Amino acid sequence: MSTQTAHPTQGAGQRTRSCATGLVCHRCENSYPLESTVFACPDCGKGLDIVYDYELAASHFRDVPASERPQNIWHFEELLPIVDASAQARVGRHSGCTPLIRADRLGAELGLSNLYIKDDSSNRPSLSYKDRVVSMSVARLLERGGTEIGCVSTGNVGTAVASLAAKAGVDAYVFYPNALEDTKARACMALGAKVCQVEGNYDEANKRCREVAESTGMDFANITLRPFYAEGAKTAAFEIVEQLDWQAPDHIITAAAGGTLSSRLHKGLVELQLLGLSETDATRIHIAQPSGCNPIATAIIAEEAEIRAVTPETAAHSLAIGNPGDGYLVIDAVLKRGGTGGFASDPEIFAGIDLLAATEGLLTEPAGGTTVAVLEKLAAAGRLAPDDTVVAIITGNGLKTLDDHPPKQWPAKIDCELDAMLSALSDLKSGGTLVESAREQLHF
Ligand SMILES: [Zn+2]
Repeated sequence: MSTQTAHPTQGAGQRTRSCATGLVCHRCENSYPLESTVFACPDCGKGLDIVYDYELAASHFRDVPASERPQNIWHFEELLPIVDASAQARVGRHSGCTPLIRADRLGAELGLSNLYIKDDSSNRPSLSYKDRVVSMSVARLLERGGTEIGCVSTGNVGTAVASLAAKAGVDAYVFYPNALEDTKARACMALGAKVCQVEGNYDEANKRCREVAESTGMDFANITLRPFYAEGAKTAAFEIVEQLDWQAPDHIITAAAGGTLSSRLHKGLVELQLLGLSETDATRIHIAQPSGCNPIATAIIAEEAEIRAVTPETAAHSLAIGNPGDGYLVIDAVLKRGGTGGFASDPEIFAGIDLLAATEGLLTEPAGGTTVAVLEKLAAAGRLAPDDTVVAIITGNGLKTLDDHPPKQWPAKIDCELDAMLSALSDLKSGGTLVESAREQLHF
């Protein structure tokens, strides 16, 4: 569905069907009104969560069936924190509701007969899962009457902010650390954002951006707006369960960086059960990280409650967060659900990208390769039974990271002549490569 009919509550000053009631600290009992601009607990320093009136939400869900809801990020608007209908109407109308693809060919390779790919590499407008979370940040900014938004990004948040801010008529400022796929920085600029590269890794840049936000008052999508941002991630869980006809999967596997997606998948599953929409208690969540940056997976395997920060060194730049802010929430969610964490080396990550491409025709970035590599390991280790329903989330698009793939040989140019082409085809079929020596090291 590419166009949406107007919802009756979309006018200026009107309220959405959101059942959000306030903010609460993830760790202690401090609570704040929904209108508050507090984004971290002044007592314990942890982030804030959004709380809802679930009885009211259940009643709304009974009133409006899924078939009458918009096919976008607002499909489950009761469980999202945006209350101003005019702000909601300006953001995310074509985000979310990505396909759930039955992955028969990849499943056959891995010995899994009920494997699905949740393909957020096709999310709109910026081809990653971050369109879900940034939609909430931009809508919240509009609710507050803001006209500019910043972010700190390993790449995909930046492109999502640049894209969604442009559509909403908001100025975007993207700060990115020194390890980033160039294509993502170029995309931010092409989309009209003001871009600043910071000397330092993501964790260092994130810390300084918080100081910039506090000293300028400018909202940052994934810092000052973070409680709202994080809620967008739940929509992936809602969609997966609805797409499986309300039968929650046995396993969900996703890559983890800061930990927002994997921890909010858990929250989303809990909420579906609270509303009586699906039995989700038995769904296990597993997370995948690169071997060069695996603080959450390491803590999960050791069953430790807190993260030990690491210095990232991985080709999966979008996962290079050594001190993940929501890491403690991920550990809690994964262990409560009987899931696990796994990691993959850079060669295994690129092999995962190739395997997904060759079996399912999907080109993903190294984060997706990490997920596929860990999926393969969990299947081989017997953590996933052959007939279990397994959903692997592919969070980002490989078109943004092709420049960073290992070098492959460039095909030679041959004469545009029948005999030469038949000879070349014969060589290719027999496994040969037609290499033009001068361009052997070109990346593609
Ligand atoms: Zn607190």
